[in-house]
Amino acid sequence: MTMIPYGRQDINQADIDAVVAVLKSDFLTQGPVVPAFEKAVSDYCGAKYSVAVNSATSALHIACIALGVCKGDIVWTTPITFVASANCAIYCGATVDFVDIDSRTYNLSVDRLADKLALAEKIGKLPKVVIPVHLCGQSCDMAGIYALSQQYGFKIIEDASHAIGGKYKGEPIGSCRYSDITVFSFHPVKIITTGEGGVSVTNDPELANQMVRLRSHGITRDPAEMTRPPDGPWYYQQIDLGFNYRMTELQAALGLSQMKRLDQFVSKRHELAKHYDQLLQRLGVVTPWQHDDAYSGLHLYVVRLPKTNRTFNHREVFERLRTNGISVNLHYIPVYRHPYYERMGFNPNDFPEAELYYSEAITLPMYPGLTKSQQIEVVNSLTTPIGHQTIF
Ligand SMILES: *Cc1c(COP(=O)(O)O)cnc(C)c1O
Repeated sequence: MTMIPYGRQDINQADIDAVVAVLKSDFLTQGPVVPAFEKAVSDYCGAKYSVAVNSATSALHIACIALGVCKGDIVWTTPITFVASANCAIYCGATVDFVDIDSRTYNLSVDRLADKLALAEKIGKLPKVVIPVHLCGQSCDMAGIYALSQQYGFKIIEDASHAIGGKYKGEPIGSCRYSDITVFSFHPVKIITTGEGGVSVTNDPELANQMVRLRSHGITRDPAEMTRPPDGPWYYQQIDLGFNYRMTELQAALGLSQMKRLDQFVSKRHELAKHYDQLLQRLGVVTPWQHDDAYSGLHLYVVRLPKTNRTFNHREVFERLRTNGISVNLHYIPVYRHPYYERMGFNPNDFPEAELYYSEAITLPMYPGLTKSQQIEVVNSLTTPIGHQTIF
């Protein structure tokens, strides 16, 4: 039985040719293609600077360091995200806390953020950085989050791993109008891919510079950044503790080629979403709600099977889809439910919307190569119990 995955890359001959051309060139790493890919991403987003790395996880990590996150600091994010959005702060020795989600967008709720900030200010535990995640590709209410950042003095990293190609208030996600840094992921299930890879964009030259150093051991070759004049033409200095988080030329060549089809991919996803919306109409399934301010990248198509609707049993429907060869998924298990985070003492009752979401959500397959007949198969399988079992 061939499985229908929940997400899948779309690779064409031009992508293959671009990667092969790099293989035949002088540089497999630290050559001209990474800067070209970086420029393509920042030009697309309307941001000034772009730093390509080997994953979005690495991008989140060096973004946190560049913003000065360290031991004793507090970072907040949403519980409905991939663990990397929270882990990046813990890498820096900070502590993590979560802000419950909005019941319609499933993104970090600005109302809950405002409540939590007011409380945190009273007890002197304000966050240094807040990491909103544009779940499924739909932007968070960035204007609202930005206004709170001005009031309470925190920095913002947008985890836009799902969201390249999307817009917020008519501007590309990644413009960084309402944030310090925005991070994209190019894992194969995401909107465009580099195999593995990520990019940070920013409008701040100092943050960009720091991230460039941090991806390559904290080393600089710029005499202006050195503590003393170069010993000779071979000279470089390590001035921070960095990593090897570099992206290869092969990855960048694939990314640069994929960027050309980004808008095409996103409009195809919108077409597929519209078709799902129609197929699921009147079935009692909650389809994705879209805010007027947002044009989603539609990385994921998440439906909810309301607990109040007795015709659905979440677990049963999920298992049936899997049995029928449809690799549905659940994005995400609330981060505080993972044992590593549980040990920090989180109480699920503090996040009622995230808990309810977790008991109702299913991610249906969504990727450019998905066909309309496969979508019909998915919806039939979602709504039709196997056989007609009578209840004894
Ligand atoms: C995929 C993803 C990441 C991590 O991306 P990698 O490139 O795999 O490191 C981080 N945050 C979110 C929300 C993601 O979906």
